[in-house]
Amino acid sequence: MLARNHEVEKALRTVISIEKHFNRWFHYPIVFLNDEDWDPEFVSTMNETVSGGAKFEVIPKEEWGFPANINQDRAREAINRQGQQGVLYGGLESYHHMCRFYSGKFYTLKALKEYKWYWRIEPDVEFYCALTYDPFVEMAKHEKVYGFTVALPKEPATCPGLFRAVADWKEEQDYRTTELWKAMVSPSWLPWPIRKMMSGLGHRDGRGDGWNLCHYWSNFEIASLDFFRSNAYQDLFERLDERGGFYEERWGDAPVHSLALAMLLDSHKVHHFEDIGYRHDWYFQCPANAPGGQLLQSEVLGAAAFEVREEREDGIGCRCECDGSRTRNHASYCLNRLTQPNKSRRLGTLGWVRSWWA
Ligand code: GDP
Ligand code: MN
Repeated sequence: MLARNHEVEKALRTVISIEKHFNRWFHYPIVFLNDEDWDPEFVSTMNETVSGGAKFEVIPKEEWGFPANINQDRAREAINRQGQQGVLYGGLESYHHMCRFYSGKFYTLKALKEYKWYWRIEPDVEFYCALTYDPFVEMAKHEKVYGFTVALPKEPATCPGLFRAVADWKEEQDYRTTELWKAMVSPSWLPWPIRKMMSGLGHRDGRGDGWNLCHYWSNFEIASLDFFRSNAYQDLFERLDERGGFYEERWGDAPVHSLALAMLLDSHKVHHFEDIGYRHDWYFQCPANAPGGQLLQSEVLGAAAFEVREEREDGIGCRCECDGSRTRNHASYCLNRLTQPNKSRRLGTLGWVRSWWA
């Protein structure tokens, strides 16, 4: 968990929630990362709460902040401009640093060297269902690389040049077009000469085809560190960093991860954790409970009080404590787009239209 000292209460809520629904049975350590020194209050609060041990790391200055080769005056001007234009978080220098950090530098931190897998958490997130298996073990067993819960469309103003930068790199490296890439790209329906002219617009590749802005929401990720440490990924990150888009624009780590995964991976390497109940801000996913699977009398629950809602025939959740009327993943269109390659059934036109509202 990357956090700031003043977020201690929100961070505590997250930790209490993940301990209750998962870590009480597995006792994984939680590594807290900060670009500043930790307050003793934050440290003692977490030490009392994390069952598998809390670690507190300060990110080295070289890993957080402007890259060496950038013109900082120009970058600051660009940041101010984005602030005036009302780009989401665009005017906040620290937010740009955070996005760059999570896009590339996070993975090569010395503090994480001993780990192969991570589960990213943030202050103020909530888990709703019990996770009674070890997701790291299952992902390794099934040769997965990346797990997500929520998929969303990106705010277009934050990253008009990002897709072009990734698509150009894909072209240069001669990467084949994967099913996942196709799920993120909507071919232009215009005739060829006009279509080519479209390539000058935002979110288009050199051919004029567009990214549909769909991405995995990265405040939740369970993923392989080794994938993001690989040359294939780190070279892409270096290229994006050189382009300056982490400051000239406000490229987020979520679309960077997502486009990289789509470019580099077979769709079966990406797993949608549809059984994990999760909320951050106003987006959430919460499955209905599986019939007969709640095992409230189980001894391993000890004194834990679970407030289990109704079970449903098609439910897949375990002791989910969410409102039965809101059991669906928020996102519909993007979730459908990005999970389609792994499904045997294709969505018809009506299905797509419905998915905008589902
Ligand atoms: P949002 O989820 O996109 O609205 O962005 P957040 O404000 O939640 O930031 C995402 C994550 O980065 C959270 O874990 C924050 O605690 C963390 N974060 C953002 N900015 C900073 C920063 O300047 N310093 C530190 N240490 N953490 C930050
Ligand atoms: Mn957040």
